[in-house]
Amino acid sequence: MKIAIYPGSFDPITKGHLDILKNAAEIFDKVIIAVAHNGEKKGFLSVDERVMLIKKSITEFDNVEVDSFEGLTIEYAKKHNAEILIRGLRAVSDFEYEMQLSQTNSALSSDIKTVFLTTKPKYNFISSSTIKEIFNNNGDISKFVPQAVFEYLTAKKNKLI
Ligand code: ADP
Repeated sequence: MKIAIYPGSFDPITKGHLDILKNAAEIFDKVIIAVAHNGEKKGFLSVDERVMLIKKSITEFDNVEVDSFEGLTIEYAKKHNAEILIRGLRAVSDFEYEMQLSQTNSALSSDIKTVFLTTKPKYNFISSSTIKEIFNNNGDISKFVPQAVFEYLTAKKNKLI
C-alpha cells in the first residue's frame, strides 16, 4: 500500500491544493493531508479551522484523510508508514525552496521521497496568501477556494460565527 503525506499550511485550503490532491489521490492508495502547526507563524485560521474546512472540501475522495501535526514532517511520515511526501510546484520561484526542502528531508531520512505535482493552468497561480489579501480587502475569492471555505470565511467576516 502506497501512502503519501501532503503536508502544508493550508491557511486556507484552495482550489490549487485540491487539484494537487486529486492527482495524488489517483496515483497513491492513500493520501493524508497533514496541516502543520507552525509555532512562529501566526495563522489566519486556527489549525482546527483549517482541518475542519479541509474535511468539508474533500468529501468526493474516499482515499484521503486529514490530520494535523507538530514537529518534523519526516517523523510524522514514519509514524504513518508513508515514504512519500507530496508537494506542489507553481512557478520557478517555488522550485528553489521546494528543492531544498526535499533534499533536506531525504538527508534526514533516506527512505523519504518527495513527489512534485502541478495543477491545471487555471489553478496554477492560486496561493493562500493572495487569497487572504484579496479577502481582507473585500475582494471576491469564490473562484479560488472550495465552497465550504468561501461560506465559512464570509460568515466569519459577517460575525455570524
Ligand atoms: P507551505 O506553508 O508548506 O508552503 P501551503 O499550504 O502554502 O504550505 O502549500 C502546500 C503545498 O502546496 C506547497 O508545496 C505549495 O507549493 C503547494 N501549492 C499551493 N498552492 C498551489 C497551486 N496553486 N499550484 C501548485 N501547488 C500549490
